[in-house]
Amino acid sequence: FNALHPTASPNQFTISYEFFPPKTPEMETQLWQTINRLAALKPHFVSVTYGAGGTTRERTHSIVARIVRETEMKPAAHLTCVSAAREDVDAILRDYWDAGVRHIVALRGDPPTGVGSKFEAHPKGYATSTDLVSGIRRIADFEISVSTYPEGHPESASIEQDLDALQAKVDAGATRAITQFFFDNDVYFRFLDKARGRGITIPIVPGIMPIRNFKQVAGFAQKAGASVPRWLAERFDGLDEDPETRALIAATTAVEQVMSLARAGVNEFHFYTNNRADLVFAICHLLGVRPVRERAIA
Ligand code: FAD
Repeated sequence: FNALHPTASPNQFTISYEFFPPKTPEMETQLWQTINRLAALKPHFVSVTYGAGGTTRERTHSIVARIVRETEMKPAAHLTCVSAAREDVDAILRDYWDAGVRHIVALRGDPPTGVGSKFEAHPKGYATSTDLVSGIRRIADFEISVSTYPEGHPESASIEQDLDALQAKVDAGATRAITQFFFDNDVYFRFLDKARGRGITIPIVPGIMPIRNFKQVAGFAQKAGASVPRWLAERFDGLDEDPETRALIAATTAVEQVMSLARAGVNEFHFYTNNRADLVFAICHLLGVRPVRERAIA
């Protein structure tokens, strides 16, 4: 008996990786090293985020287009409704289609004034993520992924409202949901049960956030509607001056979370990579997902 052993066999795992557009040439070099290393694991797709307020429109597009041109991976471009008229969003979608991109992660986005302030739709824009999904369907036959929030979106009055939102996105044409990150797997399973109970059948893929910097992740979590369990905070307690131990604990924590989901039968994972390969590469290795070596043709 191997306590770490997942229930699915390696080739039954469907893996995807998320990147963000780099801000500097050094960060860009690092991103491409990461992409090339992870490409060997043949992910189902790789996604590239869209900066808050649409600030990375060109950078997101250029990375996604380069992934199409230079790799065999299928990219998914994140797109939000923020600060853009429908015709601008539609033009972005047509550009993606023409560049060979076939998958969009459709989001409402956060208000340009920051998380916590009220979202005001652009007067001529898509008002909600559901609206955006419908708009994408009208433009072309994209595969459409959406977000979902197992612990509730910060603006949501209840989990039922999040399930309503997910249902509306599915009815509009979304075919996959990726969750906000979470650290307590029971939270995910409870949400999954409720979604299945309502007849939502699309994959609800756990978004896995390996912790590199606990304080930073705890800050994100507070804004994102994800809770940080006390046991997790305790693991990092007293290690502010000890990055090596923090890194080991971070790796162990992420491995435990993914292995426990895999043992419970989860066979699809979306990794928030923070544009770094090492930790997610190691987790995939433990799942049995290994580089595909092309066999020479005799
Ligand atoms: P929505 O589905 O639009 O939900 C937002 C709120 O509205 C919730 O309270 C929901 O309950 C409510 N709601 C929406 N529709 C309905 C409905 N029909 N019925 C009832 N209630 C409804 N942000 C970026 O700026 N760029 C990114 O690239 C990006 N990528 C992300 C990727 C993932 C996997 C996740 C989980 C989040 C991402 N975000 C990104 C953050 C996201 O933009 C914010 O969380 C934003 O506040 C909500 O947008 P949404 O599309 O995720 O949520």
